[in-house]
Amino acid sequence: MVHIPKPPAPAILLTDGIAKALEHSEQYDSSTPEQRRAKKFFPFEGKIYGSLTVREILSIVQHGKCAFCETPLLGCYGDVEHFRPKAAWQQQKGDTPHYPGYYWLVYDWDNLFLSCEYCNRSFKKNLFPLADPTKRALSHHDNIEDEEPLLIHPTFDNPENFLGFRGRMPYAINGNAKGEATILLFGLRKRPDKIRKFQNIHLQTITTLLEARDTYSDKPTPENLSRVQRINRLLQEYQSVGMYASMTQALIRDYNTNS
Ligand SMILES: [Zn+2]
Repeated sequence: MVHIPKPPAPAILLTDGIAKALEHSEQYDSSTPEQRRAKKFFPFEGKIYGSLTVREILSIVQHGKCAFCETPLLGCYGDVEHFRPKAAWQQQKGDTPHYPGYYWLVYDWDNLFLSCEYCNRSFKKNLFPLADPTKRALSHHDNIEDEEPLLIHPTFDNPENFLGFRGRMPYAINGNAKGEATILLFGLRKRPDKIRKFQNIHLQTITTLLEARDTYSDKPTPENLSRVQRINRLLQEYQSVGMYASMTQALIRDYNTNS
């Protein structure tokens, strides 16, 4: 997971999105607690939060990768994932889902990321744990600033302060709670076989580049120095915008320390 700075919100979220969120809030205020607990009580508009503009901007700022595991979103735009779940929330796995969810943040730019199907559909789902569950915002009348989420927010947090890597396996730095919860809830250690193989091939590619760089550096002819420069540029790109950039940074750091 890498830090994802976001540009200002796309216009559709500031116009249609705000109008729709206001409708949901009015619907909440004019309903009974029983009505609000119905599963499909709020008519969420996927055409707004999942619009092409939203997807395209997220795809650009996320460099075409899942916001949480950095797997390339090949051939599709991925799922528009709500950081604070829209329909219902659970403090932990196995809890009964609590309805409604964060209905007033369904079109909120800070709450939207592109996610791969594994992170979103197989793992996170409605989970949104807080350090202190009594501080949870239960409606638009409450303040989400009072919450202390146990999940790393890719824009407001700097993920590298929380997550490290040994090979392709993430770990929580100094066992921090936010890192542990993020790894567990997004299943970051439990990728399917095809993704695991893909990650291993990627790490092998990086290692091969590092070894080639060292070999060329040992014989610093003009041709070899030019090759070293090209490899360094490539490694720089892998670490900034490439797939699995956080994993790649850790591998390169470890390699440079140990060589
Ligand atoms: Zn993912």
